[in-house]
Amino acid sequence: MNKDKYGYRMPLLTSKPYSLVNVQHKNKLAQLFCKHNYILLNRFDKTTVFENIQGDEIVSICPKCGKIEFTTFFKYEGMGYK
Ligand SMILES: [Zn+2]
Repeated sequence: MNKDKYGYRMPLLTSKPYSLVNVQHKNKLAQLFCKHNYILLNRFDKTTVFENIQGDEIVSICPKCGKIEFTTFFKYEGMGYK
């Protein structure tokens, strides 16, 4: 799988809407010794021009080491999230 397939940006729920966030993908050894600082980010596919209109894929990720805690899917309903 391509490493740079996914990009990350702040979701609309947070204060800075849709600003891009650089996530560093270090090796597994750096992830062991990192003091994780998980934040919620919106993951999108860089390779496609189409986006999911049903909702956003939200991941809880540490931007320093790139370790993912969990992933969820938030569905839109009307003007915002469900
Ligand atoms: Zn970390």
